[in-house]
Amino acid sequence: MLASKGYAAQNAETPLAPWSFERRDLGPNDIQIEIKFCGICHSDIHQARNEWGNSLYPMVPGHEIVGVVSAVGSNVKKFKVGDLAGVGCMVDSCHECNSCKAGEEQYCDRGATVFTYNGKDQNGNLTFGGYSNNIVVTESFALSISPKLQLAAVAPLLCAGITTYSPLRHWGAGPGKKVGIVGLGGLGHMGLKFSRAFGAHTTLFTTSPSKVEDARKLGADEVVISKDPSQMAQVSGSFDFILDCVSAEHDINSYLNLLRRDGTLCLVGVPEKPFAIHAFSVIAGRKSLSGSMIGGIRETQEMLDFCAEHNIVCDIEMTTYDKVNEAFERVVNGDVKYRFVLDAASL
Ligand code: NAP
Ligand code: ZN
Repeated sequence: MLASKGYAAQNAETPLAPWSFERRDLGPNDIQIEIKFCGICHSDIHQARNEWGNSLYPMVPGHEIVGVVSAVGSNVKKFKVGDLAGVGCMVDSCHECNSCKAGEEQYCDRGATVFTYNGKDQNGNLTFGGYSNNIVVTESFALSISPKLQLAAVAPLLCAGITTYSPLRHWGAGPGKKVGIVGLGGLGHMGLKFSRAFGAHTTLFTTSPSKVEDARKLGADEVVISKDPSQMAQVSGSFDFILDCVSAEHDINSYLNLLRRDGTLCLVGVPEKPFAIHAFSVIAGRKSLSGSMIGGIRETQEMLDFCAEHNIVCDIEMTTYDKVNEAFERVVNGDVKYRFVLDAASL
């Protein structure tokens, strides 16, 4: 077994604290990564605090992982020792069903997607995430990282990046399309960057007047304060696609009203409580309400390569493990520009 150290939640109420644990031995198809950086996703907080009601403890959160390959199994072809590698939200799936074969392992038809933490592997053992110094992962679920980009700022691409890239691609964000991004957080700021990079006219919706200037700097063509009914009314019925990246309770009827005929509102944010939707919000204008979960491994590699080519990374604030609980509070309060990244050297 591989000795690991990290930070874990032992239950939903107590703060994260240092924890030592073991990972599986390196198998023939596995690589071992010495973790350098891990992003703090709002999903880490939802799950550490059992806000989705499905948490397994002890929990080592973290699914925005980058580091250096420190060992490779005998069958490994894609990586060698010393390469940069990343791990996102999944570490395995059935590999055989239609969704897995289509490269959409996050939607595995057999429900066999193994999540990086708060999941169980094929042997029924708990998985532990990236708030730690190392990880063992099958090479087919590890991503290649270009040395061209700042490594710490690449980490959040593994979740915030792919979760926004995938739906924007799926619904054809591009020239001639009007796209709205709701919430300027970790996901939202990447959604904004990708929508602009794809050539769509992009409007950022925020509840925080203090973020308006940043949103423009990040590439928004327009910024709307969503709490201001007159600003919302001005853009009514005009969007082809809206990506909702909000982590807390809010009214999605007001965003459905902003879609033009046949437009789509896609949820990627996962608030704790269910939404209330008025039928008129979707029947008037034949609108679609949809959702999207991360993205497949093939598309994640495509996204990373796109970022290397177009010099796109996340806007990050570096932090250390002794401040991880403080960082959680700041994320909940919307006080981060725009993603915290934990430095594994501080473990
Ligand atoms: P984050 O950095 O905390 O950003 C969330 C943003 O939502 C905030 O910056 C804020 O933006 C807005 N917001 C917060 N509270 C709000 C409220 N009460 N009303 C309206 N807006 C509010 O979180 P994140 O890491 O980007 O994650 C966002 C959500 O996506 C989380 O629920 C997370 O679990 C989920 N997620 C889903 C997937 C997936 O596969 N679908 C993957 C990763 C994460 P403004 O200040 O600009 O209003
Ligand atoms: Zn995430």
